[in-house]
Amino acid sequence: IIHTCESNYASCWSWLDNPASQVSAHYVVNEDGSEISQLVREQTRAWHIAALYDCTLNRRHECWRNGVQSNHFTVGIEHAGFASQDSFPRAQLDHSAALVCDITRDRAIPRDWQHIVGHGQLQPADRTDPGPHWPWIAYIHRVQALCGELVVDDSAQFNDSVVARTQVPAGWQATDTTPDYYGGGYHWASTSPSATDGVEFSFYVAASGTRTVDARWTSGTNRVPQAPYAVITSAGDTLQIVSRDQRTGGGSWHTLGTWTFPTGWNRIVLLRRAPAGAVVVADAVRVR
Ligand SMILES: [Zn+2]
Repeated sequence: IIHTCESNYASCWSWLDNPASQVSAHYVVNEDGSEISQLVREQTRAWHIAALYDCTLNRRHECWRNGVQSNHFTVGIEHAGFASQDSFPRAQLDHSAALVCDITRDRAIPRDWQHIVGHGQLQPADRTDPGPHWPWIAYIHRVQALCGELVVDDSAQFNDSVVARTQVPAGWQATDTTPDYYGGGYHWASTSPSATDGVEFSFYVAASGTRTVDARWTSGTNRVPQAPYAVITSAGDTLQIVSRDQRTGGGSWHTLGTWTFPTGWNRIVLLRRAPAGAVVVADAVRVR
């Protein structure tokens, strides 16, 4: 959970360190990221949010946690500064992102907008931090990049267009009906044995090399048992078409394989060419 202190760094950590405050946080990042204080061990509960978890505030993610005090399962990171700021220093964001990369890697926490969230999002009654100008999209991208991954979502607004692009053919519909998607939702289309269209997840490779590619979907009984993912290089060569069962395993990453990609825009194309009567879900592709 991302916070702003509503004060400078020294006031922030000293107040959190004072038992009279009745509040605490695991980490405090100073104004330019040059110093980060750890005040509470990650495995120990800190008092940084005063709200019971409500999944309707978090894209209906993990509703089985509803009613649990959010301090029980979250790590709190305070940032020197104010929710009313117009912007945040680049160096503060960078060092904060490096910290979040480290925490998520150690604890196998997915790096997305349901797992890295603002205090105000989960406690909207009386908190707004880190405020409207925290650069959420770029911040998560920075966390991902520092952890060596690039995610291509089915919606352009969640992509870093310098390295990730998506192309959704007409006829694939946008929805967020089934939770645990990446980004703000996903697209779906009906299977058809003669269909040639597919959702293109393109990613830029700056220097030719080996990459492992994962895919994510939302699952359900109506999903296709063999969703075909075509792996196509920047030269236009189809390296392989691999199939994955979308009836189960929704909301987590599934490895498609490891290939050597040339420099340029390579892509994964999710096809709907399969026996009729099922649904194909295009959510996101991860390259690492
Ligand atoms: Zn806060």
